[in-house]
Amino acid sequence: MPLPPPPLRPLHLVNPHTQESFYGVYRDQGGPIGSVMDDLGVFLRDFHCDQTHAMDVNVLDFLASVMAATDQTTAYILSAYRTPATNAMLARTTFGVAENSQHLYGRALDVHFDRDLAKAMTAAREMRRGGVGWYPHSGFMHIDSGPVRNWDLDETGLGTLLFEGGHIHFDERGEPVVSATERAIIRRYRPTVQQMLFRRRVLARAEFIARQQAEARAKFRQRRRLIHLSRR
Ligand SMILES: [Zn+2]
Repeated sequence: MPLPPPPLRPLHLVNPHTQESFYGVYRDQGGPIGSVMDDLGVFLRDFHCDQTHAMDVNVLDFLASVMAATDQTTAYILSAYRTPATNAMLARTTFGVAENSQHLYGRALDVHFDRDLAKAMTAAREMRRGGVGWYPHSGFMHIDSGPVRNWDLDETGLGTLLFEGGHIHFDERGEPVVSATERAIIRRYRPTVQQMLFRRRVLARAEFIARQQAEARAKFRQRRRLIHLSRR
């Protein structure tokens, strides 16, 4: 089935980690523009080690279509190309290793939008152009030009581990929020010592990551406030 033609309007991308931005049209009627694709390879590099990689134009088309469908002006790119070393490092400290391989080939983007992020995620899934991962607690979605598949991460897998089918939520400071029902489940359920130790390790890791993410979000918000103020 042929994909609908991608929008030809300019893309505005910002990397909140490096504070770099990209603004431009990466395609014309003739197809992808080589020099702009080279620039995008640099902008979407693995910023942990400054390694560049050619980006798959299909994932950029996917992003451009999602942005057009939900009327987004700016996409914040949290992660694009990753070297195997960076990917292994992130896999040790971050949940969601299942999606990682597409980042290794320049076929995946982790994206945040200022508004309508959930709407954008739904629009991306309806397009069925590749993989769409949803990370509501981390405030981003993952899209890739690999096989069509969907997944939700953050709380579900972890919640199942901790509460036998229940969920765990984190507040703004990254502290786990446990409901009365969940507390009752924990009281009723008597795990073995080994299970308890395992769960404690998982919880400690989850708390550590959630706190890091909360700090990153706070820093990001503050930086945006400063940028906003300086423009006045
Ligand atoms: Zn991703």
